[in-house]
Amino acid sequence: MPKFEYAPAPESRSIVSLRESYGLFINGEFGPSVDGRAFKTISPATEEVLAEVTEAGPADVDRAVTAARKAYEHTWSAMPGRERAKYLFRIARIVQERSRELAVLESLDNGKPIRESRDVDIPLVAAHFFYYAGWADKLEYAGYGPAPRPLGVAGQVIPWNFPLLMLAWKIAPALACGNTVVLKPAETTPLTALAFAEICQQADLPPGVVNIVTGAGETGRALVEHPGIDKVAFTGSTEVGKQIARACAPTRKKVTLELGGKAANVVFEDAPVDQAVEGIVNGIFFNQGHVCCAGSRLLVQESVYDEVLASLRRRLATLRLGDPLDKNTDVGAINSAAQLAKIRELSEVGEAEGAQRWSPPCELPVKGFWFPPTIFTGVSQAHRIAREEIFGPVLSVLTFRTPAEAVEKANNTPYGLSAGVWTEKGSLILWMASRLRAGVVWANTFNKFDPTSPFGGYKESGYGREGGRHGLEAYLDV
Ligand code: NDP
Repeated sequence: MPKFEYAPAPESRSIVSLRESYGLFINGEFGPSVDGRAFKTISPATEEVLAEVTEAGPADVDRAVTAARKAYEHTWSAMPGRERAKYLFRIARIVQERSRELAVLESLDNGKPIRESRDVDIPLVAAHFFYYAGWADKLEYAGYGPAPRPLGVAGQVIPWNFPLLMLAWKIAPALACGNTVVLKPAETTPLTALAFAEICQQADLPPGVVNIVTGAGETGRALVEHPGIDKVAFTGSTEVGKQIARACAPTRKKVTLELGGKAANVVFEDAPVDQAVEGIVNGIFFNQGHVCCAGSRLLVQESVYDEVLASLRRRLATLRLGDPLDKNTDVGAINSAAQLAKIRELSEVGEAEGAQRWSPPCELPVKGFWFPPTIFTGVSQAHRIAREEIFGPVLSVLTFRTPAEAVEKANNTPYGLSAGVWTEKGSLILWMASRLRAGVVWANTFNKFDPTSPFGGYKESGYGREGGRHGLEAYLDV
């Protein structure tokens, strides 16, 4: 039992002024769709309707691509890099100025704790724009030839787990390189992308350079299959990623895909246990586990299994689940009813397959979509909960005896996005890092992001890199 109760510490909603309805952002202006369709976006924590959002059909996507093409040919690609940089710096500064509002809006629409949107998502959004603003006038030094050319119009589709941050990962490098964009945010989290559209207006970005088309999967499909785009950038599920790869294969479109993961977080017997437990918690319970690179498979060396598990259980009992806008909240709401159903289904499969399920005592709010932090022990590599991306606050625990066995088990997955290694031995970290088939390997930490560092996967986690100098390649004709 906790020694004391925390008083509620809610962040005020008053900094956000939600509109009743939002149009599509095409050619620098908000406007209706051709066929007048709309959908509602709700708060996953309360199921309250936040706003009505326009659903873009194929004719709207076509208008957006036409606007982006015109802006590409007449304005943006012809503009010197140092001028493009000024716009990106301006956007970065406005994001900083409006950071509190953006954090509240993100937590409202997505369900993630305000502590995370305030301290992680939004600062990283600004950092991405600052970082790529710096590249815009230095592209000839990026290692892609003396005068690298942009690709043209980029069609970008992003998921709901880090709505504004994924937008920044996509838009900042595209614009820095001289491309124009049409971006579709996820159906359940469109609001910060629409706030970003306002920021583009505030920054006086020329019309058509950034276009935001809201809608569901069909809008995404119309965008990636539009013949007028030159580049597709997608982050989301492996299943949709494969469909997109198939649709783009017979075309000239350049494609980057950032897909699912089932990362191993490997704890060796010499690791400092308390530190490792913090890393395990951050690895899988950060953002309710809605993280493509989440450390969802814990591999613990057998000799310290009991100690690590006992410490992990104690730590989980202190996590606070509840109101995403409360500054004390560690675990927020699951993003949608559909995602909650998927997490429940896979957790039931875990039990049916014989793994032992454990959650700390935890009261779930009555309204909204919630799932308690959950650990499965007695998991074998063949279990579905060890193989499939659950994309929720659910950790599967496995054991190993030797480093070779750890590598074998960590790599025994169709994915290859990230991994974590916990040990005091630098040589073991390097030995592991060179053998793990994962795009990112964190040593004695987890879920650390930086705009200067490339991110991307092996195998079914996708191809292409985002972030850093490598991230420029995806938007240059090289
Ligand atoms: P999706 O892959 O379906 O969604 C990602 C984005 O693609 C959304 O904007 C979505 O639109 C859009 N989209 C859907 N279908 C198409 C299509 N045929 N062509 C183009 N765009 C499309 O993920 P879900 O939200 O459905 O989540 C399902 C599972 O995917 C999760 O349970 C999780 O396991 C995994 N996932 C992984 C992510 C990652 O970063 N690795 C991120 C998100 C999900 P809309 O949302 O409006 O339908």
